Amino acid sequence: MARWRGAILLCTLLLTACTAETVQPKDQIQEAKNDENIVVTKDGKITFEIKNEIGVPQEKVEAIKDEIVTAYDHIKDSIHTSYTPSEHINVWFMEDGLSWGGASKIELVGVNEDIYPLVHEMTHSLLGYGNNFQSDHGYVTQEGFASYMEDQYGKNKLYFEKYIKHYLDSDKLIPISKLIDPNQDDVYFRPELSNQKENQVLMEMSYTHAASFVTYLIDTYGLEKFEQIYNEKELAKKIEEVYGGNSSELEKDWLAFIQNQQGFTHEDKFKSENFYDMNTILLQIDPKYFEKE
Ligand SMILES: [Zn+2]
Repeated sequence: MARWRGAILLCTLLLTACTAETVQPKDQIQEAKNDENIVVTKDGKITFEIKNEIGVPQEKVEAIKDEIVTAYDHIKDSIHTSYTPSEHINVWFMEDGLSWGGASKIELVGVNEDIYPLVHEMTHSLLGYGNNFQSDHGYVTQEGFASYMEDQYGKNKLYFEKYIKHYLDSDKLIPISKLIDPNQDDVYFRPELSNQKENQVLMEMSYTHAASFVTYLIDTYGLEKFEQIYNEKELAKKIEEVYGGNSSELEKDWLAFIQNQQGFTHEDKFKSENFYDMNTILLQIDPKYFEKE
């Protein structure tokens, strides 16, 4: 549906251009339009085409094209996977909804507000996700690593540790064993609670847990080890194999590390646009989601 709506808007823009400059042949205009919106990675392997249906100024589009090239290099220099990315990836700027990254299409929300998670979504599109961009291989390593990359190289500083410290202090941690369990992970990463705000908070919490846990694994044991568990179907088993300890042991170490981190200050909380709203909703969520198994 989003694709269809996008196509209609793009046609409208092209028609306007045609009407305004009647002397220029149609295909020349199309070509100029393409140049403006297309960027090829330095190694020539992938073409990204920006679908600017929300009328972002060209200056900003140019800046984002540079960001795409830089992000591509960072992602390529990170971990290596067996996935071969699409040669052509369309990047749609969207007014609302949720950002996501698939095989040949990325949708970005928050471009005008400068909060678009470009690096996060590019990480999905370039490194692969599940068998075919499904959740059949879980979420933790894929979402965790995408958020790790966003935090390192993207626009958004995500303060995973501070959030986890807050959940820890509030007794609202989600056990890692539940987040990596194929029978329970959807409940957290794609929640279907009747309350929309609780849904959003639970989902964001799951992403933050994944991001902080993955960041801890990478900072402590390195990228090479993490590469071996990325997007693995039987994650619990794979973790034991690669790290020589089960996820509960690693979780304990991670939380001991978090315990020593500086949490949000009162000033941080006060300055944040949504900390207190988030926290109010957090306290309403059914405690069963945070129970240890
Ligand atoms: Zn993601």
